[in-house]
Amino acid sequence: MHDFTPVNEPLLIGNEKKYLEECIDTGWISSEGPFVKKFENEFAKTVNRNYGISVCNGSVALDVAIATLGIGPGDEVIIPTFTIISCAAAIIRAGAVPVLIDSDKDTWNMDVEQIEAKLTKRTKAIMAVHIYGLPVDMNPVMQIAKKYNLFIIEDSAEAIGQTYYSKPCGSFGDISIFSFYPNKHVTTGEGGMVVTNNKILAENSKSLRNLCFQPKQRFLHEELGWNYRLSNLHAAVGLAQVEQLDKSIIRKHEIGNRYLNNLKNLSSVQLPRLKTDYAKNVFWVFGIVLVDNKYPDAASVIKLLRTKNVGTRPFFWPMHEQPVFHKMGLFQNESHPNAENIARNGFYIPSGLAITNEQIDIVSDILLELFD
Ligand SMILES: *Cc1c(COP(=O)(O)O)cnc(C)c1O
Repeated sequence: MHDFTPVNEPLLIGNEKKYLEECIDTGWISSEGPFVKKFENEFAKTVNRNYGISVCNGSVALDVAIATLGIGPGDEVIIPTFTIISCAAAIIRAGAVPVLIDSDKDTWNMDVEQIEAKLTKRTKAIMAVHIYGLPVDMNPVMQIAKKYNLFIIEDSAEAIGQTYYSKPCGSFGDISIFSFYPNKHVTTGEGGMVVTNNKILAENSKSLRNLCFQPKQRFLHEELGWNYRLSNLHAAVGLAQVEQLDKSIIRKHEIGNRYLNNLKNLSSVQLPRLKTDYAKNVFWVFGIVLVDNKYPDAASVIKLLRTKNVGTRPFFWPMHEQPVFHKMGLFQNESHPNAENIARNGFYIPSGLAITNEQIDIVSDILLELFD
């Protein structure tokens, strides 16, 4: 049997080690070190933003974004039901209410045609989350936001280096966020960033990430913040990763295209789309959804693949089916059939940046055999 192929392995072959050594040699390891600003500037540039505010992960970047926009009790925020829990958690912890939208069958992103019907007088923002490699169809989202005077919060964690009609993902929100978890296209181990062009939002975010210390009298607080700072060690890795980003995106396209080509005769599954009118798939992950398959659900295929040494992950589980939210009295009788279907029948296969073509071909052969 072949060696285990992990679902994700990051690639750290640039200046990561050199920059980390610099941190250790100089003693600069905290968030006060010079790599933090360098990383913020270089990363913000890749998405045409004036301000980048690094934080210690992508989930807290969402907390900062929500707090910075002043969203709180009495407010509603539109989000996809098919996403990571961080999106809903940030809204709920701020005392506001997430309003859920079903997925588009084809792209697995929020079905933007369903947004307008969900707006109320309390709606303050639309959180657009780019899912799995294709961006949300942003033009309709921006039109709705403009018409009803809503903020756009853009969760671009999975879309580093992706574009929408040639404009970078992460440049569409009033405020946009990123994660640098090891499966993201730029990784710092753990890390995240808030980006914006708005100076006030940038300054608010900076203050919130740093306990709202005040410049004049440091330990006197007008507002309640958090310590969400990113260390110089993390930023050193991040800077080296940004230097590799163009290459990483080329490789992600290669990985996805190779799988699509290998698996094109696979029957009774839905494969990711290669492209839409507005974007080429960047294949953050390579998802597969069972369609009238001989296997009852994704969980059974995941188990089988594990016995064949192939690492996988199940798809997100929709927010309206989360016990934790039902206990809070949220989303109790909601149904979003497309999200329910992909959650039960979807999983993704190894596609991290360190994967080799040989590994892709081995995983493909195993899949072809399983589904034959
Ligand atoms: C990874 C991810 C996050 C959270 O990032 P962490 O750094 O893991 O906290 C948020 N949103 C989306 C869409 C993600 O994929």
